Amino acid sequence: MSESEERETVKSFNPASGDVNDEIEAATPAEVDEAVEAAREAQKSWASRSVEERLHVLDVFQDHLIRRREEVARTIASETGKPVGEGLVTDLIPVIDAVRFLKKRGPEVMETRLDLDNIMVMDRKSKIVREPLGVLGMITPWNYPFGIPGSQVIYALLAGNAVVLKPARETTLTGLKIEEILVDAGLPEDLLHVVPGGGSTVGQALIESDIDQMTFTGSNEVGEMIQEQCAERGVPTTMELGGSDPAVVLDDANLDNATSGIVWSRFMNCGQTCAAAKRAYAHDSVFDEFRDEVVRKVENLRVGNGAEENVDMGPLIDDGAVEEIERQVEESVEMGAEVLAGGERLDREGSFYAPTVLGNVTHDMPVIREETFGPVLPLMSFENEDEAVKKANDTRFGLTASVWTRDTDRGERVARRIEAGTVVINDHGYTYGINETPWGGFKDSGHGRTHGVWGIEEVTRMKHINKGSADTVPRSLRPETTWWFPYSDDYLETMGDGIEFLYGNGVVRRATKAPKMLKELIGRDKL
Ligand code: NAP
Ligand code: MG
Repeated sequence: MSESEERETVKSFNPASGDVNDEIEAATPAEVDEAVEAAREAQKSWASRSVEERLHVLDVFQDHLIRRREEVARTIASETGKPVGEGLVTDLIPVIDAVRFLKKRGPEVMETRLDLDNIMVMDRKSKIVREPLGVLGMITPWNYPFGIPGSQVIYALLAGNAVVLKPARETTLTGLKIEEILVDAGLPEDLLHVVPGGGSTVGQALIESDIDQMTFTGSNEVGEMIQEQCAERGVPTTMELGGSDPAVVLDDANLDNATSGIVWSRFMNCGQTCAAAKRAYAHDSVFDEFRDEVVRKVENLRVGNGAEENVDMGPLIDDGAVEEIERQVEESVEMGAEVLAGGERLDREGSFYAPTVLGNVTHDMPVIREETFGPVLPLMSFENEDEAVKKANDTRFGLTASVWTRDTDRGERVARRIEAGTVVINDHGYTYGINETPWGGFKDSGHGRTHGVWGIEEVTRMKHINKGSADTVPRSLRPETTWWFPYSDDYLETMGDGIEFLYGNGVVRRATKAPKMLKELIGRDKL
């Protein structure tokens, strides 16, 4: 088969209007391998630069991004239909903020001095040096097509890695923007390759290529398949998978804020967020008020093409996603759920589904059992904290969660009992944009962490360097002589005294053990 016959194209279109943005030539599997090979060469000289030099490129990238923010946000909107301003806040800020964080903390995480308090090694020094892993493969979703790959790429580059990224087909143009702006900012050639194409072709080629690590963000189905293949070949993975976050509203919550925050978290990005309040539980005593306020606020959401002004919620990513939401809602309604708002596809052009609130919900329904990746909020009540925690944890997922209460200590007590990588008190999910904090889930929501100190650690390997001087000066205090050969006649006893002196209880008792130990330190000759 000739090259031209093999090459696929990916179509970028706007799900709010059906308009085609562009048709992009996909990479071939051979080109994916070439990209990894070229990245490997480029990575070597990138890694030999200082962290400060690498940060300089990221700093210039941040400037370009701030300047080109609207252009990028409009590209995102054109491929997802989401409001332009929302793209700016939820896609661009996490990336812009990543550079701020890495400038502040990157150098010290890449090289950290350790305090050695043990007097046996008081003349020695230890440090942790973080080395890049090499060439990272990244496969990313369309829901935050700039925010997710953008910040993952920035962390990888700071640490001295190269990246080959396959963006989701639907948002290929946004993925290509990351490369374009980084190269404009002075990123050396070949360090980042964005390879357009489909998951089962180009994505699969990347999985099978010579990468040193795979960072995958997306569905559990695909993630588990990738993890299996990588495990077989000994390639480490970071997995950022699905979620079904609970929001727990306690009886003392500020209901106005709780309803606004939960409605934003659930319906932002048309409900297509991994970390969204996908199930809300309110205490019996406030449930009716909570429900009515949620319904009122949801009915006030302005749905439309996000490229236009005054739109809160755009379309789903495509018609297939609408059909999936239709199925989940219909089956749940058949099982007894009550539609309190929305509940159907909108009769207009584009992949729109009405913002939906469900009551009478039980845990055997699809809207609870499965991840609902669309604008549907099921409401439930609880009698006490134990019941709330039990319901919150009754899921295979554990990405994030929220607790709403005026008593933040009480909120923390509940938070500690919820099985999730992040629990936010009095807001939900927003910490993706705060780079000091870790990102990642418990249970089936994945493993590993992006963001924060842990996000840097994730894309590096740790090397410990312990330094001592070559000469025994002052000779008498060289600790090696205590453990090097020869072992003296009273070695056992002396070392026993040494242990009591160093680690035992009671100052007086420890002091009585000092002389022998000191004699040993000072008086021994090594072999
Ligand atoms: P997806 O269908 O799993 O797709 C994610 C990526 O995997 C896309 O680039 C896709 O390419 C690629 N892919 C699909 N099949 C593949 C295969 N056989 N081999 C290699 N790659 C393949 O997920 P999605 O529908 O885009 O995203 C929604 C899911 O992502 C939700 O479950 C959501 O919760 C999760 N998510 C998690 C996080 C997190 O941080 N934990 C963040 C965002 C989203 P194509 O587009 O070409 O199919
Ligand atoms: Mg997909």
